[in-house]
Amino acid sequence: MLTTVPRGTKDILPADIGAWRYLENTMRDICARFGYEEIRTPIFEHTELFQRGIGDTTDVVEKEMYTFTDRGERSLTLRPENTASVVRAYVEHKLYAENSPTKLFYIGPMFRYDRPQAGRYRQFHQFGVEALGAVGPNIDAEIIILAVTVLQSLGLKDLKLKINSVGCPKCRPEHRNRLQEFFKPKFNELCKDCQSRFDRNPLRILDCKVPHCGELSVGAPSLGECLCEECSSHFEKLKELLTSAGLTYEVDTNLVRGLDYYTRTAFEIQYTPLGAQSAVCGGGRYDGLVKEVGGPETPGIGFAMGMERILLALESQNLIPDTNFSTDVYAICTNEENFSLTFKTVIDLRREGLKAEFDFNGRSMKAQMKQANRYNAKYVLIFGEDEVKNGKVVLRDMLNSDQKEIDLKDITTILKAEVQNNE
Ligand code: AMP
Repeated sequence: MLTTVPRGTKDILPADIGAWRYLENTMRDICARFGYEEIRTPIFEHTELFQRGIGDTTDVVEKEMYTFTDRGERSLTLRPENTASVVRAYVEHKLYAENSPTKLFYIGPMFRYDRPQAGRYRQFHQFGVEALGAVGPNIDAEIIILAVTVLQSLGLKDLKLKINSVGCPKCRPEHRNRLQEFFKPKFNELCKDCQSRFDRNPLRILDCKVPHCGELSVGAPSLGECLCEECSSHFEKLKELLTSAGLTYEVDTNLVRGLDYYTRTAFEIQYTPLGAQSAVCGGGRYDGLVKEVGGPETPGIGFAMGMERILLALESQNLIPDTNFSTDVYAICTNEENFSLTFKTVIDLRREGLKAEFDFNGRSMKAQMKQANRYNAKYVLIFGEDEVKNGKVVLRDMLNSDQKEIDLKDITTILKAEVQNNE
């Protein structure tokens, strides 16, 4: 127990950090291009925020939340997603009084009591964006294009973009009636969850992961047939904008998303080679959410991407750039008299902005050379006994094995210039 992580969680080790940084930097760069600013909200919130913001009938709220009572008897929950928290922050800090739309992004850990398997964890990371305060389909298109741009910039192909419209409170009741009519004769065959969804939220039956419910859903009346005029023209315009931006998509009328607050546009991006956990991004419009958490009526749209799944996809395609740890200079010293000089030189080099390393364990010359290679050192400084006596040190270029003596006093100047030239 003491030496293993809790089920469904993972350590991100130094060897993995390069890949994570690469992923995060790509996301940050593209958000900057699209004008989205970063927001960081707390890891835990009042439980009620998620109950209200995600919806009581969802699997996330019913079965997957890490909820606890703190020492002050408050019910708190580790965030299972970030949209509700971003909206809470938007309302709390009255961000709506500033520029509109407010365009935000986040990167961070989320927590769900899910059944762990490849690509599904209990602590996982999401990158997501939210745009609050814009009602037209332009922002829907911008957000979808942003998501696709991130995945394409990482080099991923075989992406499948699915879109749908889930309507609005005006057109959903009609669809709800038709769905209930459709499922009534099949009620006894539905799983227990879907039987309870039948009254509360029959749309979510279409989203059920139980295979038999999936079979029973074939031929169910689609929302497309019931969309009101406004929703229908919003969806048409969105399709037009995506096409004009060169995106290919598939309209999937079964794409309903698990969360209650979604209105109109819903979308998902799959990376098909991942198999069962192929959904790398899910998002949609949530015009009812800001009001639901106590803010002024404000439209919103966003998405979240699963970072572990993207990393799995990148690994399988060898798309992670080489990010080996490396140092500029490794200082070798084997005689005790020169230790302080070596130490001081390394510290001086670091102060000058160079990556410099030295031996901590009294290794032999040969072993220190090996260490230098392990650190991928570009240069090695050898503080040899005779050289130091003459005010000199040996500088070795590790790439071409060239070696020369330089004056001790010139070490920093020469190395700075050499490293800069090689960059
Ligand atoms: P959702 O917030 O459920 O719409 O999920 C958005 C994205 O987060 C999904 O498309 C997945 O890529 C990722 N995701 C959701 N749940 C998990 C999980 N338990 N483990 C890893 N990734 C997840």
